[in-house]
Amino acid sequence: MHRPKKRFGQNFLRDPNIVRKIIAAAGLEPGDRVVEIGPGLGALTEHLLEAAGRVHVLEIDRDLARQWAERPEPNLVVHEGDALRLDWAVLFDHPPYKMVANLPYNISSQILFKVLEHRERFSRLILMFQKEVGDRLCASPGGKDYGILSVLFQLWFDIKKVTPVPPGAFFPPPKVHSSVLRFEPLEAPRVPVADHRFFARVVKGAFSQRRKTLRNALVGSGFGFEGLDEALQVAGIDPGRRGETLDLAEFARLAKVLMEANP
Ligand code: SAM
Repeated sequence: MHRPKKRFGQNFLRDPNIVRKIIAAAGLEPGDRVVEIGPGLGALTEHLLEAAGRVHVLEIDRDLARQWAERPEPNLVVHEGDALRLDWAVLFDHPPYKMVANLPYNISSQILFKVLEHRERFSRLILMFQKEVGDRLCASPGGKDYGILSVLFQLWFDIKKVTPVPPGAFFPPPKVHSSVLRFEPLEAPRVPVADHRFFARVVKGAFSQRRKTLRNALVGSGFGFEGLDEALQVAGIDPGRRGETLDLAEFARLAKVLMEANP
């Protein structure tokens, strides 16, 4: 009997309906290579092993990883360790992969940024998050959920909600609601962006102080310079707006003028 470990975010899925929806959303084919972060007791893994070609599981819990390593399935590859520290470029060197994961909530943002860095390796991702993180990823401009995650991920992915998941779908039940999202990578970024690191810095700057105007948030995050107001005008963006009202195309224009004006 495995005792769930809180420090590893171990809330195991036990609702077969939710499992079915996650597996259906992955649209698995026999030739697919799949990555699962945190197989745990295998609620998802058993189905992945049946439906996919090769299944890579990344598990930090030594007890669980060892149990998986003893399994006889020839299409199972077990990587014991921290998914944040393991080198994805080495482990996943035959793209494309599908990722399917019920993520430990305490590391979901860090995993997301690692996914972004390695986005070209993935053809689809089905990921479970705390509901609020899911809402932020899908949010449109203007609302309270719209922020850095919305902009940086919608630039590269079509993101759809697959299903909400209530606490009772897990053992032990977490304190929060969850939601499963499907990420489909776009062939090219939704709007052209010349320098992605710079774009990300600008987006982070624009959202750094949500109560301030865009102008003041930019000044406060190191983008202040003499001609800032003119540059914003060239980009067709009123400096008195708030960062959370800008859509992706406006963020791209903003990044372009800031880069040109402030190299
Ligand atoms: N997939 C299983 C399920 O749906 O029932 C387990 C999900 S549970 C929310 C999260 C799993 O991720 C646990 O098995 C936990 O040990 C593992 N885990 C937590 N942190 C991890 C990390 N940094 N790297 C790899 N696995 C991790």
